[in-house]
Amino acid sequence: MSEAIYVLIDHAQGEIRTASQESLVIGQRMADDSGFSLHALILGHEVRSLAEELAGKKVNSVVWVDDPKLEEYDPDVYCEALSQVLTEKQPHLLLMGHIYQNIDLAPKLAAAINKGLVTDCIGYRKVEEGFTFVRQMFRNKLNADVQIRSSHPWIVTLQAGSASVDDLQEGSAEVVAQSAELSSVQARRKSLEAFEVTKGKVDLSKAENIVAVGRGIKKKENLKIIEDLAETLDAEVAASRPVVDSEWLGRDRQIGSSGQTVAPRLYVACGISGAIQHIVGMKNSQCIVAINSDPNAPIFNIASYGIVGDLFEIVPALTKRLREL
Ligand SMILES: Cc1cc2nc3c(=O)[nH]c(=O)nc-3n(C[C@H](O)[C@H](O)[C@H](O)COP(=O)(O)OP(=O)(O)OC[C@H]3O[C@@H](n4cnc5c(N)ncnc54)[C@H](O)[C@@H]3O)c2cc1C
Repeated sequence: MSEAIYVLIDHAQGEIRTASQESLVIGQRMADDSGFSLHALILGHEVRSLAEELAGKKVNSVVWVDDPKLEEYDPDVYCEALSQVLTEKQPHLLLMGHIYQNIDLAPKLAAAINKGLVTDCIGYRKVEEGFTFVRQMFRNKLNADVQIRSSHPWIVTLQAGSASVDDLQEGSAEVVAQSAELSSVQARRKSLEAFEVTKGKVDLSKAENIVAVGRGIKKKENLKIIEDLAETLDAEVAASRPVVDSEWLGRDRQIGSSGQTVAPRLYVACGISGAIQHIVGMKNSQCIVAINSDPNAPIFNIASYGIVGDLFEIVPALTKRLREL
């Protein structure tokens, strides 16, 4: 086993996925905490520009496996390529984003190489023997520290929003070509045309500013004051689940355990109590402003700034002041 951390870099339409950038941030922190080396691992075909982009980050190397068979995601091919890399390099662990592709791939890979897997982690702790991984349990009511007992390499998937991409450190590394023998792998699946779940809708995970509204808004007709504030802040409008269940806003605007996970620079929560199922989707926002008439609302526990009062007074006043500024 080498003292190395590998991070699998997923990409789509020529761009590195946000979840992978977040995983790289966690990898950088783990490397800083442990003194282990850090390596970005990218699979694909003719993705040199992405490999070079990664070489500008604080990593020890970028390991690039290039093969026409890796052009599209195929679980058998990807699993074989990763098995070969992990068997040869024997890193301490492989980190990857907890995205749909890896929800498919990670257990298959762990079973193929017979190593331990922890999924959907929100962080890690440095302990004497190495690392433990933090994952939420019982509908996010508890955080559990999970230890892996198998030999290395371990496989760990990280929840979206577990780090902020703004914390990604720059650096300079070389791109190292890594071969994998994939000719004998028979692909058993055929990919159909890719489509975006959020096509024509909003992808809140990319929003820099979000104004979110909860049941405190009372009825759909009152949403105008929220939309005005959002427009002033160049923000997307988002919602808690009751607002979506009432069909005041579309399902694609729901934040939380059964909605989207976001980590914007600014998250303004208006009339949202701060139930755990909501918080899990927005707690990694850099600055949280909560407006709530109940001083004991749990949202204030995670707010950077709290305003106790009636949102029907505060939100229009805030919009007016921001417009003046
Ligand atoms: C399996 C499961 C999954 C779930 N998934 C999600 C999810 O993805 N996202 C999600 O959001 N929820 C989810 N929920 C629901 C969650 O448990 C809460 O019920 C929900 O988040 C509460 O939404 P809310 O804060 O808007 O409403 P409430 O809890 O009713 O809070 C309304 C808040 O508005 C305040 N308020 C009222 N009037 C005013 C006013 N005039 N001015 C200022 N403040 C005012 C109140 O003080 C209160 O704090 C889920 C629940 C379950 C069981």
